[in-house]
Amino acid sequence: MAYHTLLKFPDPRLKEVSSTVKEFDVELVGCVNDLYDTLNVEFGAGIAAPQIGRLVRVVLVKCSSFGELSPDPYELDEDILVLINPVIGLLGNKVRWSEACLSVPDTSGEVYRSSSINVKYQDIGGIYHELSVGWPLAGAIQHECDHLDGVLYIDRMPISESAKIRRAAYATTKRITSLSKGSQRQSYIAPKVKSKKRPPKKFGKLKKKKKK
Ligand SMILES: [Zn+2]
Repeated sequence: MAYHTLLKFPDPRLKEVSSTVKEFDVELVGCVNDLYDTLNVEFGAGIAAPQIGRLVRVVLVKCSSFGELSPDPYELDEDILVLINPVIGLLGNKVRWSEACLSVPDTSGEVYRSSSINVKYQDIGGIYHELSVGWPLAGAIQHECDHLDGVLYIDRMPISESAKIRRAAYATTKRITSLSKGSQRQSYIAPKVKSKKRPPKKFGKLKKKKKK
């Protein structure tokens, strides 16, 4: 078990489509445990394997972050739902809510999600299951499963709303790259002053607006 550094947007690996898990072996258990450790260290509400650079179809959701019990408690922590090879059927109405993501740090944005879902998946032993999930856990699962297809919540926002987030992320990446290459300039580049504002929740429990 180990913590892994998270990939951050605009890392191109976050755009990749992840592979189906075929072997339910020690390596898979290791992957799930690494995701679990990373989720806890980052105080996240959910995580998908591609976020730590493993391009396999595995997601974890911390159900208490959404005020719910795990419908299929994980043996190491009954608060956790582990989904291997999840396939989602979208049901219900569209709900607009605020999301954030460990891979798009220090920001959040509003997206539409289906209010309920049906999810077919395998557990860590390869056994097939099916669940009906309501709001808001359904929204969290949709967010995490999007990662498996290379989709971030900002990809679901109108470009006019996500542009600011994208620009800030590209600017940060450029700054880090130029600093790591060693700038020839004599002047000191002051780092951005970090806001004292509390970072947004890793997921929105904030607003729930029904689409009119
Ligand atoms: Zn995410």
